[in-house]
Amino acid sequence: MERSNSPLPEWTWEFHGHRCPFMPIGYRMGIAAMRTLEVGRAKDHGTYALVEIGIGHPQTCMADGVMASTGCTYGKLMMERLGFGKMAMILHVPGRGAVRVSLRAEFQDDLGRQEFFAYRKRGVEPSEIPAEVTNAAVAKVLDASDDALFRVERLANFEFARPKGSFAKVKCDQCGEYVFERYVRTRDGRALCIPCSGFAESHVNLLDGVQ
Ligand SMILES: [Zn+2]
Ligand SMILES: [Zn+2]
Repeated sequence: MERSNSPLPEWTWEFHGHRCPFMPIGYRMGIAAMRTLEVGRAKDHGTYALVEIGIGHPQTCMADGVMASTGCTYGKLMMERLGFGKMAMILHVPGRGAVRVSLRAEFQDDLGRQEFFAYRKRGVEPSEIPAEVTNAAVAKVLDASDDALFRVERLANFEFARPKGSFAKVKCDQCGEYVFERYVRTRDGRALCIPCSGFAESHVNLLDGVQ
């Protein structure tokens, strides 16, 4: 089994685009979650990584690391953002259960003292920060034990599922573009896509099963 604090594969950095401490945090979160559920990296569908990040805070790089280690990619609809503004994730593998991995507050405090964040708070993008400064912050993550980084809790009776997939699609009566069936809206007897209908996007409450 891969040691969680071994260096990350180089492709993960290329995929993410820059070096930073939060992508490797997510990568290691995913590995800790998979180890707890005794599963490997997902190949197809049916496994879900639900990341608790929101928007408007700069630690969301975490989700790219989670995708890289778990194989739960956004495009395969295996990842969702729960929008809680927290550094945590839930990995749900039907038949194997669910686990929540959260970054310890103590570690966030400790990491926050890295010079890397002095640059970030001045608005310097990670790729513009001196390499030795970034490497020190990344090493802080890679050198920490799983216990120092994360709290890991199994979630009993956790359920998350997608609606059954359908290839059915309809041409919007106004713009002529195809829209998949569940997104068709009807107004004055016309079948319309959401932008043409003027209706708001349907309410989404992922954990209550509304998608
Ligand atoms: Zn990043
Ligand atoms: Zn349309």
